[in-house]
Amino acid sequence: QDVVHKIAAGEVIVSPTNALKELIENSLDAGSSSIQVVCKDGGFKLLQITDNGNGIDDDDLPLLCQRFATSKISAFEDLETVSTLGFRGEALCSISHVAHLSVKTKVSTSSTATVATFGDSKLLSTKKCAGVQGTQVSVEDMFYNIPLRLKALRSKSNSDGAEYQKILDVVTKYAIMYPGTFSCKRVQDSQPFVIPAGPPKEKMKRIFGAGVFKNLLDLNIELADGEPGSEFGLKAVSGCITSLNYPSKKSTPYIFFINKRLVSCDPLSRAIRKVYQDHMPKSSSHAVVFLSIELKSENIDVNVHPTKREVRFLYEDEIVDIISQKITKELTKSSD
Ligand code: ADP
Ligand code: MG
Repeated sequence: QDVVHKIAAGEVIVSPTNALKELIENSLDAGSSSIQVVCKDGGFKLLQITDNGNGIDDDDLPLLCQRFATSKISAFEDLETVSTLGFRGEALCSISHVAHLSVKTKVSTSSTATVATFGDSKLLSTKKCAGVQGTQVSVEDMFYNIPLRLKALRSKSNSDGAEYQKILDVVTKYAIMYPGTFSCKRVQDSQPFVIPAGPPKEKMKRIFGAGVFKNLLDLNIELADGEPGSEFGLKAVSGCITSLNYPSKKSTPYIFFINKRLVSCDPLSRAIRKVYQDHMPKSSSHAVVFLSIELKSENIDVNVHPTKREVRFLYEDEIVDIISQKITKELTKSSD
């Protein structure tokens, strides 16, 4: 029984960065406007997320790590129209099976905070302590009980720097998309990297530097019902992309959010890369691209994989085409 749980959990939580994504999404679902991340040893030793969200009521702690325990869905039909990022109730449960999990939390109506520890879905202990409103989730010794997984992951990138880079990468992507303050540090760093609250463009300035910022074009496309493209469920595309005046040597992965979820979409990446290559003949040129795409929710399948990394949606080819045409238009317009 325990082995089954461990295997299932190992499919939901596959790496420190994927756990981090789940925890940031929980903080966002809790209405947080400030999210701080601290990690040790690339997140394997410690991954800690502190938010200023709603907090968790003491009464809810015993069931917090039960499989499929979620406060976010009340009826099956809700699955079609989920407005929260989480809805499966699998993340915390899974983390409790592959790591040591503790949660410190305080709701506004309580005068004290509670620290709770969890193991294999179960609440192990609770203790009252002082604290401010919000939740701090600490994940320690990830995959301590799956030594092969730990070894495989760690041998892929054997420097702490590379692992930390991946963590920082996830934090910065969410920071661009969501208006609140985000910060990230390793335990040994005296100062965190802080991305103050603000619009995406300001955040990109902080993250990518003034050179990128000076060359950013705003993208703001809305498709009204009946407009060409809307028949494929495309509602809006907004974001920032570097103009053709910015032949960057550094390749940064494109940042895509679809209906506010961080996703990867290879067909879209390929199409956008081609747009830039066609217009910037220098083959070494790269671009910085951040897109927030709104699709009709009934056309998306967010349920395709437990880790939700990949998203599937209807009319993928058509939508990728429309978006790359819009980008081409913006780029050529600005270089005239
Ligand atoms: P899901 O997000 O799919 O509901 P999770 O396992 O990620 O499932 O979280 C389980 C539940 O724990 C959530 O539904 C929510 O009620 C609560 N929770 C988790 N993290 C936080 C947080 N940072 N702040 C407030 N509540 C949280
Ligand atoms: Mg969640």
